[in-house]
Amino acid sequence: MQRLARGWQRAGVCVGFVPTMGYLHAGHLSLVQRARRLAGRRGKVVVSIYVNPTQFGPQEDFSRYPRDLARDARLCREASVDVIFAPNDKQMYPRDGARGFSTFVVEETLSRVMEGQSRPTHFRGVTTVVAKLFNSVRPDVAVFGAKDYQQAAIVKRMVRDLDFPLKIVVAPIRREADGLAMSSRNKYLVGGLRDQALVLRRSLQRAQAVVRKSSRPIPAARLKAELKRFIERAPAARVDYVEFFDPDTLVPAPSVTRGTQMALSVFVGRTRLIDNARL
Ligand code: AMP
Repeated sequence: MQRLARGWQRAGVCVGFVPTMGYLHAGHLSLVQRARRLAGRRGKVVVSIYVNPTQFGPQEDFSRYPRDLARDARLCREASVDVIFAPNDKQMYPRDGARGFSTFVVEETLSRVMEGQSRPTHFRGVTTVVAKLFNSVRPDVAVFGAKDYQQAAIVKRMVRDLDFPLKIVVAPIRREADGLAMSSRNKYLVGGLRDQALVLRRSLQRAQAVVRKSSRPIPAARLKAELKRFIERAPAARVDYVEFFDPDTLVPAPSVTRGTQMALSVFVGRTRLIDNARL
């Protein structure tokens, strides 16, 4: 991958990059389209497919995370992707006793809240793998989804802080017709769980309606409690967090107004789902 990327760089070819964990859906493909527009017809679009073990906690779904490389390859071909980069664990994290992998990239501020609190080693895994992928693919521009709002903010911060020579573009959340944010993990939502998962989007809309109706800022704690009650009316739903924060700094907002960002994580059965929106 690096050899190929260096050749492109020497030839002045613009490279657009979309990192994924595979099991591709229309959300991923919207990022690919964006990358194509940014790279141009003569540019190259690279999609990486790698279920990165270091961003999963020990009790999480790493081993059962859905994988289907043949289907992903077909979708990428149909979307005119130039190269799929699908490294394996041994290549990414050499395990060789005392000579094994031992260097990590850690963002220390934005990673502390929300997902970082629920999944303490998650962002260390994300920033490490994204840094490694950037060094292999050497993109001019990389496209991330707003679905993982905090992740995009952290990657942007890493790129700025460590002087990675590329631009980060954040593309909007793609949803199913009924409003559920597309996610590879939606595959876990069987039977009645699929319907109950709509409670995430509905709670975002409910918060939007409350904020737009109110002429004054709303205390965050009060709105959080109200939304938790609303969400947990769905019998299989359990709130992990609901947070209101500044969209740029991710600093928690004590009161909520138009323009505050809201993000939430909810277990629906055993599946942990996330969503977010600008209020
Ligand atoms: P993943 O395969 O879940 O690691 O996601 C790879 C990239 O696709 C990340 O930048 C995600 O934010 C993005 N993504 C995932 N789901 C969606 C969606 N529904 N809409 C837009 N982007 C998404």
